[in-house]
Amino acid sequence: MASTGRAAATMVGMGSHASDQDAAHSRPTSELRALVVEDERELAGVVASYLQRAGFEVTLAHDGLEAVNTAREVDPDVIVLDLGLPSLDGVEVCRRVRTFSDCYVVMLTARADEVDTLIGLSVGADDYMTKPFSPRELSARVTAMLRRPRASRGLLDAADVKSFGALSIDIQGRDVWLDGEPVQLTRTEFDVLAALAERPRMAFSRRQLIDHVWGETWVGDEHLVDVHVGHLRRKVGDDATRGRYVRTVRGIGYRMGTGE
Ligand code: CA
Repeated sequence: MASTGRAAATMVGMGSHASDQDAAHSRPTSELRALVVEDERELAGVVASYLQRAGFEVTLAHDGLEAVNTAREVDPDVIVLDLGLPSLDGVEVCRRVRTFSDCYVVMLTARADEVDTLIGLSVGADDYMTKPFSPRELSARVTAMLRRPRASRGLLDAADVKSFGALSIDIQGRDVWLDGEPVQLTRTEFDVLAALAERPRMAFSRRQLIDHVWGETWVGDEHLVDVHVGHLRRKVGDDATRGRYVRTVRGIGYRMGTGE
């Protein structure tokens, strides 16, 4: 519980006071930062305490505008984002955060029917959980997603760069280029692409991609995969009919395209 003191101070201060700025600068670089955005303060506190126990430095925000500002300040690795919030709703917060961050975003929704809306929206969230949810499961899911380290560029090995036509993927460095120009993918989009690229001749079912990217314990609507594939294709100038980089395998799921 060594980090409790600092985390608690951050929670109270919302990152806006000088002492929190100091804490931000002196934090060990290995510590992952989580931003919990939830207007139900009790629930926010419970989620925060689970994430703290999992080793995250946690900051809280209780409305949408505060969430966007705090995300800019603390540059979190993950945001747990409630959909129903004062000032800006979670969808709008996610859209704004996506203009400056590729952090992992888990949306919390109060109603199961919101999931359909969420999945259909191009808001840029990585995952969602419906309320009531188990904070323990949320914490486990987030930890599993962030376990994959972002490798330092100094360790970059040319052999790790895979090319498919104009698309180059550096699996270790987590970088993607299209015609030599960097492509900004979210963490999940990258992980889906990397899973396909590492076994380019394999047709993955949605469930297999979920196992690779979200983890074997993930439970939910497997069409979440389609949403991320849709975003990924758009960013690399691909679409379902061409399947240059991500091919649809009818009745199964997806496989890597050849880039032709
Ligand atoms: Ca709420």
